[in-house]
Amino acid sequence: MILQGKAAHPVREIILHCAAIKTGQFAHMTPFHVFATVNQWHTERGFKNGFGYHGLIMPDGVYYSGRPYSMIGAHCIGHNAGTLGFLLIESREITKIDYFSTYYTPAQNRALLDLVGSIDGIEKVSAHHDYAPKLCPGFEVKTYDWL
Ligand SMILES: [Zn+2]
Repeated sequence: MILQGKAAHPVREIILHCAAIKTGQFAHMTPFHVFATVNQWHTERGFKNGFGYHGLIMPDGVYYSGRPYSMIGAHCIGHNAGTLGFLLIESREITKIDYFSTYYTPAQNRALLDLVGSIDGIEKVSAHHDYAPKLCPGFEVKTYDWL
């Protein structure tokens, strides 16, 4: 079980996100360049610790780490303590919420399944749009699809 922050919040949930990007914006970037770009956005928005997610997954399935799991993220207002936030770098613009997403690639799907399965104590996987009026991450997230 991962414990987060000074209050040692138990981490039982993963919240999925997408990058709010125009089609192709990240197409030719390395994972580090994507990380650095999002880190700059979050720093400019005043996030004290920069990059607000715990990791990102590129369209080819490559994972790049963000905040340590033991650090509270900045990715979902009201739900940051006790959750991990992961960012899917999707291959096209998100225009609606689908059940079966075509926004992420099979490689991202596999990488995310491996990632979720590798973290102890997770009981729930949810979408940013479950908690905020957003499209993010562009598809319905059901725990049983990922755990
Ligand atoms: Zn989000």
